Amino acid sequence: MRIDIISAVPDLMTSAFSHSILKRAAQNKLAEVNLINLRDYATNKQKQIDDYAFGGGAGMVLMIEPIAACINSLKAQREYDEVIYMSPDGELLNQKLCNQFSLKKNLIILCGHYKGVDERVRQHFITREISIGDYVLSGGELPAAVLSDAIIRLLPGVLNDETSALSDSFQDNLLAPPVFTRPQEFNGWKVPDILMSGHSANIDKWRHEQSVERTKERRPDLLE
Ligand code: SAH
Repeated sequence: MRIDIISAVPDLMTSAFSHSILKRAAQNKLAEVNLINLRDYATNKQKQIDDYAFGGGAGMVLMIEPIAACINSLKAQREYDEVIYMSPDGELLNQKLCNQFSLKKNLIILCGHYKGVDERVRQHFITREISIGDYVLSGGELPAAVLSDAIIRLLPGVLNDETSALSDSFQDNLLAPPVFTRPQEFNGWKVPDILMSGHSANIDKWRHEQSVERTKERRPDLLE
């Protein structure tokens, strides 16, 4: 899979993709993430990418020309499944959407900044708009990193234990069961006996019950 992320401040995302699971995914050629600096596509001498909003009001708006130049240059090189705009008024991100995106081949993600992007970008270039929650961040960079991380960890081979992503919260509409590691006892607080029994069928059953319990308690809406 290839993800091209267009941003006014791509450095904000560098670290997110250079460690741990996402770094390994890139090294193993399972996911290629390209951070593209919108300024490289500025069309005027001042290398301008934003301007004041027509009609007045506070805050700058990302201009259509650099974004159009950037998206068109990417599209000339390959076919894209989706051109996604990160936006607080977009479709709310959830695991189901991540699963769907993980089956795609090439994605463009556009990050807004300041007041957002010229509406004509959204009307003519964007195929999906995704929000990571009902709150407003200063730019689309962290949301783009969140979306990419959630997608990439689902790609076959990215996680060491391939079943691991399947047992995470929200797959099957259940929250994940509790997990424990060494020591077996700390401060008199013991790990549940069942996990030390070595009986894998019983452990699976216990984990499933714990998942259901936890979901009933914390997110009954998922069970409906
Ligand atoms: N004026 C806009 C907010 C702009 S915030 C509004 O009120 O809707 C600047 C940029 O940050 C946005 O263009 C978007 O790309 C990103 N952003 C902010 N909050 C976000 C969220 N919850 N989900 C996804 N992207 C978000």
